[in-house]
Amino acid sequence: MKIAFIGLGNMGGPMALNLHKAGHALSAFDLSVEACGRLAAEGVAIAASAADTLDGAEVVISMLPASQHVESLFFGGEGRPGLLDRITPGTLVIDSSTIAAATSRKVAQAGAKRGVAVIDAPVSGGTGGAIAGTLTFMVGGAAADLERARPVLEKMGANIFHAGEAGAGQTAKICNNMLLGILMIGTSEAIALGVANGLDPKVLSEIMRRSSGGNWALEKYNPLPGVMENAPASKGYAGGFGTDLMLKDLGLAQENAASVRAATPLGGLARSLYAAHSLAGHGALDFSSVIKLVQKAG
Ligand code: NAD
Repeated sequence: MKIAFIGLGNMGGPMALNLHKAGHALSAFDLSVEACGRLAAEGVAIAASAADTLDGAEVVISMLPASQHVESLFFGGEGRPGLLDRITPGTLVIDSSTIAAATSRKVAQAGAKRGVAVIDAPVSGGTGGAIAGTLTFMVGGAAADLERARPVLEKMGANIFHAGEAGAGQTAKICNNMLLGILMIGTSEAIALGVANGLDPKVLSEIMRRSSGGNWALEKYNPLPGVMENAPASKGYAGGFGTDLMLKDLGLAQENAASVRAATPLGGLARSLYAAHSLAGHGALDFSSVIKLVQKAG
């Protein structure tokens, strides 16, 4: 299958690579020369622009940071045409970025007017899941469009859920990430408390992992450096899922909660804590670095 892939960052890079390894003919693009270089080194064809990836593409996949990037890509701006004006009718668009559900619906509606099917398919599983091809996809859109996308999604993920109509994938994703943001802070507090009492963090983490406090952070993403060799914490909090991306997702969750008058007190507090962490200069570090807020300095 000919696939256009736009956005080759921490997630999009390894996702595109898995499609390439599975034998799909990729044409990829990212605004970052460095990101393009990493994929080119693996034999992936790099296009000169996002529009240039479209030539002959049956499927277009985007993996961008936030709503404004997705709007700018598909709708254009300042006299620049958007991708939706150039995509051949009949093409399937899979947007895997985590963005506002309202933006996903807007892109899907605009696509439908041009005969282009659009599904929102945000992911969970972190960069480890992207590399291993074991991501969870949460899909919003028509069931028939998900079935068209399934063979492609299966090359990048292990779990594929149909959450509902356009935008529903995004809503499921922000519910999940609100929980993730909260549990990472809770896990950090518990580890910091144990360490302040002289406990070995590896032993404490293992005790909690196998006890009623067990969770994804303790399983795969320990926030304390040195506990888990492959976690971002042990790599200077580089790569992984940026604090500013978590802050974006918690903001989306709060906006959504306000719109449906839901009570999300811990989600609100978590957003403020990640905002403070970002303001302290840690926005580009992996979100598990939030442990710095509760750790003894030095
Ligand atoms: P990233 O910042 O590493 O990568 C985003 C890439 O998009 C960058 O390389 C950037 O240059 C590129 N880009 C931005 N605008 C562009 C445009 N107009 N055209 C082409 N390229 C453009 O981000 P990421 O960690 O890969 O995350 C991508 C999305 O996935 C975000 O919405 C994030 O919330 C979500 N997500 C991330 C993780 C994670 O663990 N990193 C996990 C699940 C979901």
